[in-house]
Amino acid sequence: MPLISIVVPCYNEQESLPIFLKELDGVVHAMTQTHPDISFEAVLVDDGSADATLTVMKAESAASHPYAIHWYSFSRNFGKEAALFAGLQHAKGDYVATMDADMQDPPSLLPQMYEILQTEDYDNVATRRTTREGEPPIRSFCARMFYKIINRISKADIVDGARDFRLMKRPMVNAIISMGEYNRFSKGIYGWVGFKTKWLPYVNVNRVAGETKWSFWSLLLYSIDGIVAFSTAPLSLAALTGIVFLPHRHPGIYRYPGQNACLG
Ligand code: UDP
Ligand code: MG
Repeated sequence: MPLISIVVPCYNEQESLPIFLKELDGVVHAMTQTHPDISFEAVLVDDGSADATLTVMKAESAASHPYAIHWYSFSRNFGKEAALFAGLQHAKGDYVATMDADMQDPPSLLPQMYEILQTEDYDNVATRRTTREGEPPIRSFCARMFYKIINRISKADIVDGARDFRLMKRPMVNAIISMGEYNRFSKGIYGWVGFKTKWLPYVNVNRVAGETKWSFWSLLLYSIDGIVAFSTAPLSLAALTGIVFLPHRHPGIYRYPGQNACLG
């Protein structure tokens, strides 16, 4: 009996999470009608939320859903990447989906994604948004620049517009978990581990409640994490700078001040 795990990182999602789970209820219900052999679990990771997200998770796990809810809670806010990693480590499914809590990753795409993995020869189905509508123009511009730069200097295939919303088969999940680095950049890791990916384009959706957790600076730092993790360009640049600025061999430089007095 195949199990599908839905991993959801949550940071201050007290309003979005119940809406998301309600939508997921409907999707799971429909999918189990057409495929009576599959079952689901939701793996919710509270990333040190300051609002009532954890209380909501506990209440939802006790409420009635057509799937089990397992929740985990961080001691502080570690960031989405750490929450995704913890969720993947605890997911038991033969198939694992990673999704945001704010409905920007529409649960309604799950049946189509599962169908593709059943009928076509792919290891995972990944989503890519075709527009950046609703996003501040400066953020879109910086994102485009980032993808241009990283794909020029890195061997990992990092797709512009790719979301972290994927449905993966177990072998791919295991490969991702085996990469245990602390400063994670999932978009690079997905490309790095390989496997056959089917891309599913969809039109961008705005978040259902609350606000984005990314500030300009946090995105900038995240993009630097990505560049440092998946390219040797910064290291080469540092080495090259070091060589260029090597001091010229002048005897005075290598002597102690006292010795200079003897030079003449
Ligand atoms: N998130 C998280 N930790 C963080 C920031 C975000 O777990 O420090 C979660 C958030 O709750 C949501 C997902 O990651 O489920 C995407 O966050 P957000 O919607 O803010 O990002 P955006 O869609 O604007 O890129
Ligand atoms: Mg979002």
